[in-house]
Amino acid sequence: NKPIIEVKELKTSFRTDEAEVPVVNGISFHINPGEILGIVGESGCGKSVTSLSIMGLVPSPSGKVEGEILFKGENLADAPESRMRKIRGNDIAMIFQEPMTSLNPVFTIGEQLIESIRIHRKWNKKMAEARAVEMLRLVGLPRAEDLIREYPHQLSGGMRQRVMIAMAMICDPALLIADEPTTALDVTIQAQILELMKKLNKETETAIMMITHDLGVVAEICERVAVMYSGRIVEEADVRTIFQDPKHPYTIGLIQSVPDMRDKKERLYSIPGNVPKPGAAQPGCPFAPRCAHAMDKCVTKTPSLKSLSDGQKVRCWLYEDGKGVKLNDTAIS
Ligand code: SF4
Ligand code: MG
Repeated sequence: NKPIIEVKELKTSFRTDEAEVPVVNGISFHINPGEILGIVGESGCGKSVTSLSIMGLVPSPSGKVEGEILFKGENLADAPESRMRKIRGNDIAMIFQEPMTSLNPVFTIGEQLIESIRIHRKWNKKMAEARAVEMLRLVGLPRAEDLIREYPHQLSGGMRQRVMIAMAMICDPALLIADEPTTALDVTIQAQILELMKKLNKETETAIMMITHDLGVVAEICERVAVMYSGRIVEEADVRTIFQDPKHPYTIGLIQSVPDMRDKKERLYSIPGNVPKPGAAQPGCPFAPRCAHAMDKCVTKTPSLKSLSDGQKVRCWLYEDGKGVKLNDTAIS
């Protein structure tokens, strides 16, 4: 079972007047065919830039992508733009948080779906239209034959996101990158969209890279999760392990800040402090200013990602000996 994508030591930096600022700072991960991997972290942790790097959408010359992005063995990190245009939307597709900004208001739903097929397939209009209708049905939209003649503004936010998913899946990609796909939607619609993505993942075997700040989304849909902080992966494990036995103090903080539906008092915990600005890089663990367990060496030396048992990996000095401690509720200062 070879991974569909294997990212090795990816480093994406942006040049400013003064310096070259790494936003993604040497991350490695893989996604197996048909798997759903969650990439979790607060905004500014580098998760969106990771997906833009994979899609070849980092603006040049200000942005620079180093490392390897092996997609079915081909390194996309140094593929020319002409090659990336063939891959985007065909082999790797992407959906975003705000469907209105990705749909063109002046074209009908059908025109946009047909266009996204005909970029990659030499199909005539009739075939493409049939496929468009089929996709709208597949994503659970009613009266698909009429819908293809309607415009984006005639649809609700949830319907628009279904259209975006139909568009992303229309060429049957091997990998779908979903960047906060449900964040702009209300809770009920959010649940329906996640349910839809799970269903499509099962039926089409398209692997999904689910980018989110919300561990609730991860619990709902992902099999494995990588937690990012300040441009690095700080913990990786299967979803059950992440929730039952989180190791990194940041992961523990994230779990504590998931609202508990069963808890009527709804004590919503939030991690004190802010994600460091990219480039504000000092030596040491970037989480140290927010961590209740910070030791002297945490502020001088950067911990590396260490493999524990069961494929769990953690980047934290507490687990240097491979065993580590059992942290309690007071994990975060
Ligand atoms: Fe906290 Fe130190 Fe671990 Fe960083 S390395 S998370 S500061 S204990
Ligand atoms: Mg983002």
